[in-house]
Amino acid sequence: MDTNIDIERDQPGRPHEGKVFAAIHAHLDDVPYYAGGLCAKLMSEGYAGYIIRTSNDEKCGGHTTAENILSNEQEHGKMAAALGFKDGFDLYYRNHRMDGISPIELRGRLILIFRMLKVDTVLTFNPWGAGEENPDHWVTGRAVEQACWMAGMPNDFPEHLEAGHRPHTVSERYYFFARPGQPFNRIVDIGSHIEKKIDAIVECRSQGGGNRGSELRARLAKQGRRLPLLGDDDRTADREYARQFLLGDSREYGKEHGLQYAERFYYLDHRPPAQSEVDQYVERNAKPL
Ligand SMILES: [Zn+2]
Repeated sequence: MDTNIDIERDQPGRPHEGKVFAAIHAHLDDVPYYAGGLCAKLMSEGYAGYIIRTSNDEKCGGHTTAENILSNEQEHGKMAAALGFKDGFDLYYRNHRMDGISPIELRGRLILIFRMLKVDTVLTFNPWGAGEENPDHWVTGRAVEQACWMAGMPNDFPEHLEAGHRPHTVSERYYFFARPGQPFNRIVDIGSHIEKKIDAIVECRSQGGGNRGSELRARLAKQGRRLPLLGDDDRTADREYARQFLLGDSREYGKEHGLQYAERFYYLDHRPPAQSEVDQYVERNAKPL
C-alpha cells in the first residue's frame, strides 16, 4: 500500500459549515461516477455545493442533437437535485469541440462564478491527467486550475469588482481520477454515501447507463423471464443494476484500503497558514524602537 495516500473518512458534525465547493464537470455522468460520493459527503459535513457543467452533451443520448441537448439538460438537473446541490450552471459549450473554444472566455466565466459564490474548494478533472482522450475534460480542468488563483487577482476582470464581486482565491482542489495512470494521493471513504451516488447514477439515462436495469427487466419480461436482483419496478431495477454492475471501480478502489466503496482524487491544499513565516519572524524578533 502506498504510504503517501491519505484516507479521507466521514467527519462527525458539520466541520465544513459555511464553506462552499463547486464541482465542475463537462458531461452529465462525470461527477456521478468520479465524485458523486465525495459530493454527498462534503454536503453532509456542512459544505454548500454547486455544480457546473461546461458542455451541452449534444453527442450523447441516442437521438437528434437537439433532443440530446434537452434530455441531458433535464437529467443534469435531476442528478444535481439527487445529490443535494444548491444550484447548478450549464455553460453549453459544444460537446467534443471544447478544444476549439476560447480558453480565456471559459476562464472568465468560471472566475465570475467563483467570486460570486465565494468558492473555497473545487472538484474537477486533473488538468494534466494522463490518458485523457476527451478534449472537453482537459479543457475544463485547465480552465478551472487557472481560474482558481486568478479569481483572487483584482486586476483580472476588474469589472467584476465594479459589479460587487470581490477577488476570491479557491484554495482546495480535488482532481478526479478519470483514467488509468492518472495520479491520486487521496482515497475518500464513500461507504456511507453510496445510496446517494446510486441516486445520481440512475438519473444519467442519456449517457451513463442509469436506465440499464429497467431496460434489462423489460427485455427479460418479453422473453418470459425475470431476474430477482432487479426487483418488481423500474426504479428498483435501475438502482440494483447500478449497485451490481456500475460500481466496480468504487469497490476496487476501496478494497485495497479495507473500505467497501471509495473514490480516488489528487488533492491540493493551498490554504494560507494562519500566520505567515514573516509574521512569525516579526513576533519572535521585533524590538521596541
Ligand atoms: Zn465526460
